[in-house]
Parts: sequence; C-alpha cells; structure tokens
Amino acid sequence: MGNPKAFLTVPRKEAGYRPIHDRIHDFGEVEQTLNTRDRQEQASRCMDCGVPFCHWACPLGNKDPEWNDALYHGEWETAYKLLKKTNPFPEFTGRICPALCEKACVLYHTTGEAVTNRENECAIAERAFLEGYVTIEHPKRNGLRVAVVGSGPAGLAAANALNYMGYEVTVFEKNEAAGGLLRYGIPNFKLNKKIIDRRIEVMEQEGITFRFNEELRMKNEEFATALSTTDDSSLFTFHSSLSDYDAVVIATGTPVARDLKVPGRELKGVHLALELLSQQNRVLAGMEFSKEERITAKGKDVLVIGGGDTGSDCIGTAHRQGCKSVTQIEIMPKPPVGHNPSTPWPSWPVILKTTSSHEEGCTRRWNINTLEFLGENGKVTGVKVQEIEWKPATVPAGSPAGATARPIMVAKGEPFVIKADLVLLAMGFLKPEHPEYPENVFVCGDAANGASLVVRAIASGLQTAKRVSEYLSKQ
Ligand SMILES: Cc1cc2nc3c(=O)[nH]c(=O)nc-3n(C[C@H](O)[C@H](O)[C@H](O)COP(=O)(O)OP(=O)(O)OC[C@H]3O[C@@H](n4cnc5c(N)ncnc54)[C@H](O)[C@@H]3O)c2cc1C
Ligand code: SF4
Repeated sequence: MGNPKAFLTVPRKEAGYRPIHDRIHDFGEVEQTLNTRDRQEQASRCMDCGVPFCHWACPLGNKDPEWNDALYHGEWETAYKLLKKTNPFPEFTGRICPALCEKACVLYHTTGEAVTNRENECAIAERAFLEGYVTIEHPKRNGLRVAVVGSGPAGLAAANALNYMGYEVTVFEKNEAAGGLLRYGIPNFKLNKKIIDRRIEVMEQEGITFRFNEELRMKNEEFATALSTTDDSSLFTFHSSLSDYDAVVIATGTPVARDLKVPGRELKGVHLALELLSQQNRVLAGMEFSKEERITAKGKDVLVIGGGDTGSDCIGTAHRQGCKSVTQIEIMPKPPVGHNPSTPWPSWPVILKTTSSHEEGCTRRWNINTLEFLGENGKVTGVKVQEIEWKPATVPAGSPAGATARPIMVAKGEPFVIKADLVLLAMGFLKPEHPEYPENVFVCGDAANGASLVVRAIASGLQTAKRVSEYLSKQ
C-alpha cells in the first residue's frame, strides 16, 4: 500500500481549474495538472482498504489501490499496466469521469477528502503516452470479422477488445470523425479532441478499420426508424455492407433528445443543446458554417432549460462565445448541499453539483416549469415560466407493499417571463427501443441502457465484446 500514515498528514490536493479570467476566453481544457512530486504524494493517501469500495463503485472495476501504490513509488509504467488491465481509455475517464470511485472512497466517508483517483488516473495515462508505454500491438487474426456501428466510447471499447481477441474489426460511423459524444457533445474545455485523435491513431495502427460518413441503415428503412420498430421482420436483414460480418455490435447511442413541445417551440433561437455543442466543437475543428446556420450566444441573454451536465456544458460554451447573461432552470427541486441522507455512502450522493461552468457565472433556479416560448418577428425574446412545488402523492389503496406514487406538480404564484434570445433545451435523451435482432447482433452503451456516462459506456462495450466472442467461439 501507499504511505500508511499519509491520509493523516497529507491533505487532498486537486490540480484545480485555470483562473476564470484566463479560461473564459478560449476552449482549452480548464483543468490543470499537478507536478510529479505532488501527484505521487496524492497517490500515497490511498489506504488500500481491506474492502476497497472504489472497485465496487467503478463500473470498470478499476483497481485504484494497486495503481495508486505503484504511482506513489514512482513506478509509472507498472501503474499504467495495472490501469490498462481494466480501462482501455484512461485518458478519457481521467478527464471527464464524475469519479464514482471517489464518492465511495473510505476517506471521503470519514474525512470528506477522497483520494484524487480520477486525476491520478489521468496523470498515469498522460505519462504512458509521453514515455512510450502505450505500445502498438498486432494481435494474431482468427479469421472472423466483426462490424461495430458507432464510434462513441462504447463502440470504441468493444472494437478495441475484439481487435485484441483477434477479430478483424471495422467501425462504421455516420459522422466525419470518431468519438461519438466525446467529440460532438462534450466541449473541448472538458476534453481536447486531440486526446481522441491520439487514441484512434493507436487503434488504427493496431488494425481496426474506421469508415466515416457511413450511416448504417437497415434494409429499406432508416436505421433510426428501424430501431423503434418491432413488427416488421424485413427490418432484421441489415444493410448489405453488414452481411460480410460474422457479428455486429450496435453502439449508436441515444440519437433522440427530449424536446419541449410547448407553444412557440418553432421560434428561431430555440435549439436542442447538442445543436449548439456539436456545432461549436465542429467550428473548433475547422468546419465553416454560414451566418444563417451558425448558432451563437454572442451578445445574447441565454436560457438553458435543464439542470444537468449537458446544461452545464451549454453554460460554459455560452460564456466562451461571449453571451450577455446565462440562466439555467430546472423543473425538479434543488438537491441538498453537501450531504443527502437518502443516498448514504458508499452510494453516489445526489447532491448539488457546481461545475467549472457554473463557477464562471450563471443564475440557477429550481422548481421552474416552462409554459411557452415568446417571440417577435419569428425570433424568441423570452420564455414564460411558472414556479412550482412538488407535493407528495397518496399511494392508491391496494398497492403492493413499498409502492410509491409520483409527486404531484402544483403551480405556485403567477407565471413570469425570463428574457432570452437564445434558448437551449438540455433535458436528456430518449432511451432507444430495439427490435429483436438476429442472434449475431449485440447492442451496447447508451443504445442499450439509455443516456449514461462514458465510464459505463466503456464497461458496456467491454462486456459486449466478451459476449460476441463467446457467441462466435460456439459457432
Ligand atoms: C453534452 C454532453 C456532455 C456529457 N458529459 C459527460 C461527462 O462529462 N462525463 C461522462 O462520463 N459522460 C458525459 N456524457 C455522457 C456520455 O457522453 C455518453 O454516456 C457516452 O458518450 C455514451 O457512449 P456511446 O458510445 O454509447 O454513445 P455515443 O457517444 O452517443 O456514440 C454513438 C455513436 O454512434 C454513431 N451512430 C449513431 N447512429 C449511427 C448509424 N446508424 N450508423 C453509424 N453510426 C451511427 C453516432 O454518430 C455516435 O458517434 C455527456 C453527454 C452529453 C450529451
Ligand atoms: S473510471 Fe471513473 S469511477 Fe473508475 S476509477 Fe476512474 S475516475 Fe474512478
């Protein structure tokens, strides 16, 4: 284990964010890095608990105590090898994972200061690329071919694992580059896209083929439509380009965002969050858009509807585009600050989250329902909203023991208007429905489980690769 007494003498030290006045003017990553000595000292705080809850909390089962110990002793290559055993892309999770492991850390429970696992993970991954521990492997081929549809973290993880098992893997991606929401959702200030390019280069050198601008469709039908149709057996025959493969992995994410169908939705200036976020990432990649196509917050009062992480990414993007003001509203109540008795340790605490984007300036309001988009000359000028409260509902008589009833939304006071000339809808994504696929078709990531996290998508991709291999080895 690390230094047995370090958790008593070394406080948690985060690398922190670049100062607001500096970071707000560019899309560079906001998070800084610690020097090597401080990083190793942070790793020394890991107590190697008898029952390490971090293993349990991490969907990948990352062995944090083991690589923290190697890191503490300066054995960076060993640390990377241990990390790589469970996580194929630590440079992604090291940047953008909410660090489920840290909230389950015994030090978080006892002192409120978890080991800085996520940052340690990122440091190990970066050192591995820098020092050349990330080597190119050429797995022996087994003569079987697998197609992966979608190149988000789930598809990449499945492709990577299957390639190492010896399958010849082709990834079909409808976009012009790989990464899914890593590239066209998550802003560059959280994840620089060169980090994705670097990994894709390794995967290509190891033998994976990427085919971009190829939206896989089912025979005779839009692929997306087919995903929500269950009654037409002709859909089960895939597009001819997939017929050459022994198995297919569908990792197409959650393509449909939840919309808000209230009066005025058609007004110019009301957009789904991803319309703004993906376009901004493309602009930073050098793509050009006409003035009519361009969505920008420059000089505008921005209203973000939806209090989650996507909403927070819209706030950070709006700041960098030069907005006049940003307000974020959420229909649910404000979560408890600091501690929530209903989500006790080691579960993930449902508490108020303040991101780097919130720190940059934002008015946040909870218990606000949206009634109507208001506009002039076809453009949005404001949003009529209503404060609400949630009243507990009575469980109907005869319900099974332990049954709960959804709380009832009750209007409070008079509706009022929030001025806005750009409105961004960040209210989550619909879980895709799938038909019954042939037995050699496997679904993973958000496409299988609904919108979630990068770490869960990677874990799902890895599990699916195992299922594919088990299936093919029996044929
Ligand atoms: C704005 C935003 C910010 C987020 N921030 C974080 C964060 O900080 N941390 C975190 O852990 N999670 C975050 N998430 C969630 C995370 O990005 C997703 O859970 C994760 O990317 C899901 O991975 P996936 O591979 O299942 O799907 P996706 O990443 O959605 O990838 C699906 C891929 O399939 C492709 N595709 C779809 N249909 C077809 C087709 N028919 N043919 C070919 N290709 C197709 C798509 O173009 C896409 O590339 C965020 C999500 C959003 C929207
Ligand atoms: S992937 Fe996330 S939960 Fe797992 S060890 Fe890394 S930071 Fe923790």
